[in-house]
Amino acid sequence: MSFAKQMPMPRGRAENLAVIFGDQLDHDAGLLKRLDPDNDVILMAEVDGEQEEGPSHKVRTAVFFAAMRHYALWLSERGFRVRYVRVDSRGNTQSLEGEIDRAIEAHKPQRLLVTHPGDWRVMETLDAIDAVDVEVLDDEHFYTTPSEFAEWADGRKSLVMEFFYREQRKKLGILMDGKQPTGGEWNYDKDNRESFKSEPGVRAPYSPEPDEITAEVISLVNSRYADAPGRLDESNWIWPVRRDKALRALRDFVEHRLADFGPFEDAMWTGEHTLFHSLLSVPLNLKLLNPRECVDAALEAFKAEKAPLNSVEGFVRQLIGWREYIRGVYWFEGADYRDRNFLGQDGDLPEFYWNGETDMKCMSECLAPVLDHAWSHHIPRLMVLSNFAMIAGVAPRAIGDWFYGMYADAVDWATTPNTIGMGSYADGIPGKREPVVGTKPYAASGKYISRMSNYCKHCSYDVKKRTGKDACPFNTFYWDFLIRHENRFSKNNRMAMIMKNVKRLKKDDRVEITTSAKSLREKFGVAPAKVSA
Ligand code: SF4
Repeated sequence: MSFAKQMPMPRGRAENLAVIFGDQLDHDAGLLKRLDPDNDVILMAEVDGEQEEGPSHKVRTAVFFAAMRHYALWLSERGFRVRYVRVDSRGNTQSLEGEIDRAIEAHKPQRLLVTHPGDWRVMETLDAIDAVDVEVLDDEHFYTTPSEFAEWADGRKSLVMEFFYREQRKKLGILMDGKQPTGGEWNYDKDNRESFKSEPGVRAPYSPEPDEITAEVISLVNSRYADAPGRLDESNWIWPVRRDKALRALRDFVEHRLADFGPFEDAMWTGEHTLFHSLLSVPLNLKLLNPRECVDAALEAFKAEKAPLNSVEGFVRQLIGWREYIRGVYWFEGADYRDRNFLGQDGDLPEFYWNGETDMKCMSECLAPVLDHAWSHHIPRLMVLSNFAMIAGVAPRAIGDWFYGMYADAVDWATTPNTIGMGSYADGIPGKREPVVGTKPYAASGKYISRMSNYCKHCSYDVKKRTGKDACPFNTFYWDFLIRHENRFSKNNRMAMIMKNVKRLKKDDRVEITTSAKSLREKFGVAPAKVSA
């Protein structure tokens, strides 16, 4: 039976109107406990308006719609009255504001209930509602509320993630032996930088088959958003969009990949995109999985000696440290955060980010899983795709918007600090605030990529060359980036060593690097990059 037939539109008045957004599909949401299924109505809406924020990958849109529809059916089976507005429903205003207004008009609620959204834009929409009282509930999915984070952050000179993470470990009693971290160290990154010497041969992760509802969404998205980027068909579907499937994906990771996750978490290899990564950011950011159950599963595996400490600690840090930290930064720094541009870079994003057509092997390899599945692991994101854009001089907002549109796990609270902050070193305000998330830019030459992958062996560029026709573009851009921002970076103690090398460059070498970078920027369609003050 089609989804539309299974979801009749509720009629009549409602005491409370609850709005549930596409990234709030939590089966244990506190919001549900506040609702009386007989007297209240839940609104869920698919709208084209989301596409107007910028291009959205077909897989990303399909993941959201499919997960929302499964969640709505789950709610309906539990007796809740769900007003589900499909994107192709008659009368859909195609905007969140419009659908909230229509639902208020139809059900005349006394109150609008909503879980804390994951986006400043949505928060501002809620703030602008004056037809009814709006009550925003804490999102219990997270360990830390925005106000708890603000308490930690207030008055600190810099917001270093490592300190936040240690406090989380102590507060939550995770991987602690009394007051000391299990194993004696807070973090085992030094053990987690291995690369593959030969074909990794990793077992394929669990990929759920699309069911009838998902297949219906795939077909809808392909016809409605035919010009959107990315490839979507039933044969390349990999994402769990129901809680039971998400739990199975968690079990699959813990059983088959967690043990090797740590040592190889930074490694890359041609044609192997998942490697030992969990792929759980998608169900986690949809809230189909709770971070606590992921942490518990990893700790169990450690207790049962099925996974070593460096792997378990690395995974746990992503969940209780990094994920909570960047959400805290997002709300603490304010709505202007996404438009910050500390280095004043204003180049365009090269066209190949949208279609993968480039002769740089590392870029085409890292773009392949993005175009096919709207996902790649954190090193292609940070050290290849973000790194290239930053050192080439692309505007941070352009790269941020690309990540937001192209990843199935992209939600504003996560994507914006990861791209504007960590990936672009852009989240400072010149003369007022040093960058928040990174103490130095995550900039790297081709040497890093060569060390962590086999890409350079299959590339037409020469990773050992800095300038010249066949020189690795990462090398040219890396040195040009350091030269362009020499004044600023020379004041950064963490960059003292590398900036000494920049200072030692002969005048001719500088000119050659700058000229080569300029012609590469023209070749790739990046507008001229600025020199920072
Ligand atoms: Fe990438 Fe440069 Fe290596 Fe080619 S040589 S794969 S462009 S890092």
